[in-house]
Amino acid sequence: MSDAETIAVIPGDGIGHEVVPAALRVLEAVDGVDFEFVHVEAGDAVAERTGEPLPEETLAAVTSADATLFGATGETSADVILPLRDAVDSFVNVRPARTYPGVDAVQPETDLVILRENTEGVYAGIENRLSADVSTLTRLVTRSASRRLGEFACDYVADADADGFTVAHKNNVMRVTDGLFVDTIEEVAADRGVEVDDQYMDAMATHLAMNPAEYDVIVCPNLAGDVLSDLAAGLVGGLGLLPSANVGAERGIFEPVHGCAPDIAGEGVANPAATVLSTAMLLDFLDYDGAAAAVRTAVESTLADGPRTPDLGGSATTDELATAIVDRLPDS
Ligand code: ATP
Ligand code: MG
Repeated sequence: MSDAETIAVIPGDGIGHEVVPAALRVLEAVDGVDFEFVHVEAGDAVAERTGEPLPEETLAAVTSADATLFGATGETSADVILPLRDAVDSFVNVRPARTYPGVDAVQPETDLVILRENTEGVYAGIENRLSADVSTLTRLVTRSASRRLGEFACDYVADADADGFTVAHKNNVMRVTDGLFVDTIEEVAADRGVEVDDQYMDAMATHLAMNPAEYDVIVCPNLAGDVLSDLAAGLVGGLGLLPSANVGAERGIFEPVHGCAPDIAGEGVANPAATVLSTAMLLDFLDYDGAAAAVRTAVESTLADGPRTPDLGGSATTDELATAIVDRLPDS
């Protein structure tokens, strides 16, 4: 057997402290992978105690681990996840959204993935207050970031055996920035012989809500990816089901799409599926394909047969769901 995989573990705030331990129970029960977990802190609680939302020790753990499992943070999110994604240079956030047998969905035919640009756009953090009443934000788009996203998308399409991808943008309004974004991605796709379709992101929102089955791989600027993936979550049964992977570079950070859900935090009823499915993406990233498939199968069969957490109409606790998933893993 290979050496242990070092995983930095950051529960963060709120339901992060419920869904991350649940996902760790699943990872620990997976056969054939040896993990060493490094538990570190980030977010509102540690900021309140120490003044620092992202302690040096946490940053060091993430940059030296093979991968990171992240829960969610609250008010301090932008001070935590943005620098972390930056520190490992994970330039794309992969967000699959699909329906599951047994889970009520607004759009049962949905099975798509959003590839969200992760480093720039309006989330680059370039904001200025010019006066008490006037503020500005600079939207950063570079050829290099657009190019590597385009290349990632082409590789993704090839691996997934997809026909091509759709790029979301608004180059009729943001002519310079989204002009560069779309043109660069289309150039890469043309060089690679990958089919690409492009759509205005607002029109895409409508079309996605009504005809999600027409989409397979969607490539988005940062903010559009954030919004469209929450829309996709609504189509498939809620935020409790959507995992994500911050990848593209040597190290990855895996986290549910949802936030720290202060409205249900502490009740022990958060749906851990999104975080468990994020660990399946982590296993894929570390090349444990069999283990990743086993986790996905166990989640699917649990969602099909129950128990279910309240967000999916059941009354199970986070722990009960984790136990059901662990029980469905193949015996070691
Ligand atoms: P962020 O800004 O970090 O994305 P947010 O404001 O979008 O956070 P979330 O924390 O994602 O908010 O929560 C949005 C809603 O979805 C809340 O009502 C929350 O309870 C619900 N929710 C989120 N995650 C889960 C989960 N794992 N299980 C059940 N309900 C969830
Ligand atoms: Mg959100």
